[in-house]
Amino acid sequence: MAYSYEAPVSQTLFDRASLVTPGGVNSPVRAFRAVGGTPRFMVSGTGPYLTDADGREYVDLVCSWGPMILGHSHPEVIAAVQDAVARGTSFGTPGEGEVALAEEIVARIEPVEQVRLVSSGTEATMSAIRLARGFTGRAKIVKFAGCYHGHVDALLAAAGSGVATFGLPDTPGVTGAQAGDTIVLPYNDLEAVRAVFAAQPGEIACVITEASPGNMGVVPPLDGFNAGLKEICAADGALYISDEVMTGFRTSRAGWYGIDGVRPDLMTFGKVMGGGFPAAAFGGRADVMAHLAPVGPVYQAGTLSGNPIATAAGLAQLRLLDDAAYVKVDAVSTELRALVGEALTKEGVAHTVSAASNMFSVFFTDEPVRNYEDAKKQEAFRFTAFFHSMLEQGVYLPPSAFESWFVSTAHDARAVERIAAALPAAARAASEATA
Ligand code: PLP
Repeated sequence: MAYSYEAPVSQTLFDRASLVTPGGVNSPVRAFRAVGGTPRFMVSGTGPYLTDADGREYVDLVCSWGPMILGHSHPEVIAAVQDAVARGTSFGTPGEGEVALAEEIVARIEPVEQVRLVSSGTEATMSAIRLARGFTGRAKIVKFAGCYHGHVDALLAAAGSGVATFGLPDTPGVTGAQAGDTIVLPYNDLEAVRAVFAAQPGEIACVITEASPGNMGVVPPLDGFNAGLKEICAADGALYISDEVMTGFRTSRAGWYGIDGVRPDLMTFGKVMGGGFPAAAFGGRADVMAHLAPVGPVYQAGTLSGNPIATAAGLAQLRLLDDAAYVKVDAVSTELRALVGEALTKEGVAHTVSAASNMFSVFFTDEPVRNYEDAKKQEAFRFTAFFHSMLEQGVYLPPSAFESWFVSTAHDARAVERIAAALPAAARAASEATA
């Protein structure tokens, strides 16, 4: 596919990057491989806008893959960071910022009695799984196909989706031993979960699930799914781990827990709680968290855990996220979903706009999407055409049909108008696209 405009400075940077970094990027989806073309190298962000190295401005619907819920360069977050950085960047000792951030998390999310700070969502889920295994003395874990929990060895297993599919390593470098205790099941299928628990009672340490998945596109849990998981886990003595790295502090003040009220044993967080810095966390029941070192025997640690700059940014962002902020983000999301749906309908493009609170994505199919297999049936080639038309018109979407779109409190009427103006041509491009 030829793209009608160039990004020469980004292309030069990408060429340089490709010489010294595999694929030219430090996280694969940034490379635009799913959609083709030159990844845009961004140089600055303000409110709902990003500016690339060629000087082009985009309305940003990625928001750094979720964290930037207040938009870019929010003055109060920047001020908190500047204030913290002036006092030093890392001490390797406890500090008050960590306590305040932990208190904020515990105050917002009732099932979290204690929390441990880490530096990435991957670390959070990895540590939560280790803790679940240490606490229960069991090895097996259940995850769902299409759910992403970071690049933890045991959680990259997603092969097959049959009821008793045992995970095989999907990624070279992940050994059978690392993934062999991972059971991968189809999402939104409680019968499949019941069947594996019935077949292996007392052997499963935990079920880990995205609280509401956003990594196969947005595929919310069916009514009762999360509650059913909790019930099945509780009956067998396994832990229910809700991964809220993406949904936490985004889908509501208390994340997805604030919406479905299902009480997890452990939860994981990242993205929004770091205010654009590397801060993440796992937490939950105090009796389970008491198994962590230095109180208990399950080891977990980090040189930069609770870093003062990251905690200052995260705390400033969370304190700004009051009820009014969520009303605003939800309203922008609702407006955009309607605009996208109208534009695609007008061009006769089969689609489903799928939402979970203010997270949403577009599937290019009008069949229901309840799990990864359904998501893969969409006409992703239409997304490619849609994506490039939007990009060309100055709207930056996630460069994959299987990712959530994110908005912020900074997406004002002007930003929405710019998106609305770009949609008719993008919908036409999607309708004219061929596989
Ligand atoms: N869990 C979920 C639900 C995620 O969406 C992600 C990242 O997108 C992770 C875990 C991993 O987080 P990180 O990229 O910070 O390691």
